[in-house]
Amino acid sequence: MKKGMSAVYPGSFDPPTNGHLDIIARSSHLFPEIIVAVTDNVNKKHIFSLQERINLLRKSIKHLNNVSVLSFSGLLAVYLNEIQSFILIRGLRAISDFEYEFQMALMNRKLNRKIETVFLIPDRAYTFLSSSMVKEIAMLGGDTADFVPECVEKELKERVLSLSKDKYAK
Ligand code: ADP
Repeated sequence: MKKGMSAVYPGSFDPPTNGHLDIIARSSHLFPEIIVAVTDNVNKKHIFSLQERINLLRKSIKHLNNVSVLSFSGLLAVYLNEIQSFILIRGLRAISDFEYEFQMALMNRKLNRKIETVFLIPDRAYTFLSSSMVKEIAMLGGDTADFVPECVEKELKERVLSLSKDKYAK
């Protein structure tokens, strides 16, 4: 590994889960600097705004002093070129992630040949965990304490409550 190389971990993080945090912690031991890059993808329906997702991530990673949280919009390959950082971190949970991630990695390399994707495998406890699953559990009134950081759990509960109030007010 070249000295001083930073790596970028992109994602939606709606909301950040313990699986994301596991990948961030692992990558923070491998690279001198990690940039968690939160996508501002307007086509995706998020329950937390971009700024809320950034704040939740910042609160959750404050013990890791080589990690920062930023946002980007548009094509990831263009963003990586802008910040001159060409190592991408992605998490692989199971075979089911593989096909999509493989395609993305090859497409990013096609868009910019400097981009190298590094796949990390989380602790076994998180291999079944996804943001959408966590949202679904919260919506159905389940306990998400084992799946997300404490700050996320609290905000998620409040958000789900206000969303269901909105729904019934209509
Ligand atoms: P995206 O919308 O880009 O898939 P996500 O926030 O869902 O964004 O995920 C970002 C990255 O984190 C992806 O590489 C995804 O595979 C990985 N990831 C998500 N959940 C987990 C988990 N529980 N364990 C390991 N990696 C994960």
